Amino acid sequence: MIPFLDLKGINQQYSQEINEAIRRVVDSGWYILGNELECFEKEFAQYCGTSHAIGVGNGLDALTLILKAYGIGEKDEVIVPANTYIATILAISANHAIPVLVEPDINSYNIDPQKIEQKITKRTKAIMAVHLYGQSANMDAISSIANKYGLKIIEDSAQAHGALYKGKKTGNLGDAAGFSFYPGKNLGALGDGGAITTNDDIIADKLRAWRNYGSYQKYKNLFKGVNSRLDEIQAAILRVKLKYLDAENEKRRKIAEYYYENICNSKLILPGVENKDRFSHVWHLFVVRVNDREDFQQYLHKNGIQTVIHYPVPPHKQKAYEEWNNKCLNIAEHIHDTVISLPISPNLAYKDVEKVIEVINKY
Ligand SMILES: *Cc1c(COP(=O)(O)O)cnc(C)c1O
Repeated sequence: MIPFLDLKGINQQYSQEINEAIRRVVDSGWYILGNELECFEKEFAQYCGTSHAIGVGNGLDALTLILKAYGIGEKDEVIVPANTYIATILAISANHAIPVLVEPDINSYNIDPQKIEQKITKRTKAIMAVHLYGQSANMDAISSIANKYGLKIIEDSAQAHGALYKGKKTGNLGDAAGFSFYPGKNLGALGDGGAITTNDDIIADKLRAWRNYGSYQKYKNLFKGVNSRLDEIQAAILRVKLKYLDAENEKRRKIAEYYYENICNSKLILPGVENKDRFSHVWHLFVVRVNDREDFQQYLHKNGIQTVIHYPVPPHKQKAYEEWNNKCLNIAEHIHDTVISLPISPNLAYKDVEKVIEVINKY
């Protein structure tokens, strides 16, 4: 079976360095908020080009805490794409704010900036831009709307570590950004993890306390904070993996380019790339659309190719958002009904990429 994502194989490539990193933490006797986290935060901020990175427990917490730090809460509205992983929207709900769903662009799968303005009200406080599947959202268009109405721009960069928009990294394109280091992301820990990047000194300072019970100094609590920290072992592992992120993203790009050049089947629609710069996309996922998805997935499975669907049910059709179940968002629904993600493991062998192409072209 050609795996969709070979996590074990990916991490085994670095097993010696990862083992050394873990050992270093074990032997240090210091496991939370220590030197490894401090170093990783510096290295990750430098990588993104921001003045700050703040490690937190996971990507959902990163987004939730950014909204909290900006004081976005009850009755405030936040613009968000209808086509995203549900965590983006849960972060807004967690702050008792109102997620305002906007249809995506059918080609890029990202929020359609032309549909944002009609959703802005007096209560709108922010636009949550998601760089879905590894491709930056259209930030010029989003920024000009945000500037016009005085809105914060919060990036959900959980799928776009290292992606560029006009030469600038995601995570450095708005007021603050949330990253996830869930194992399957382009930069993945061996457990849960997340980070916030920002150039805003005040927010950064606040968030450093917020993730730690609202405290800068032990037993002095300034805010009603939470416990959401990136632990030393995960930080040490992420320091190893960050060194290889660009090389892994490049391997993903090569696979994507190979798919583009060689997949030839009119039943498939390949993903649309908005930005012609080949570094704009880090191919967290290679998402194609097929009308009879069930049939196509079964066919690939029978031929030894594993695929995954991101995502089968849009957030507004989930039980968790029952109040939205009657909402009609045709483009988002069409995307969720027809998408399927092809294998794009950075360590995928070329003979396997060729096999995927061969099988697809015979469908
Ligand atoms: C993974 C993901 C998240 C949440 O990250 P966790 O670390 O799993 O909490 C948020 N948004 C998007 C778009 C994601 O893909």
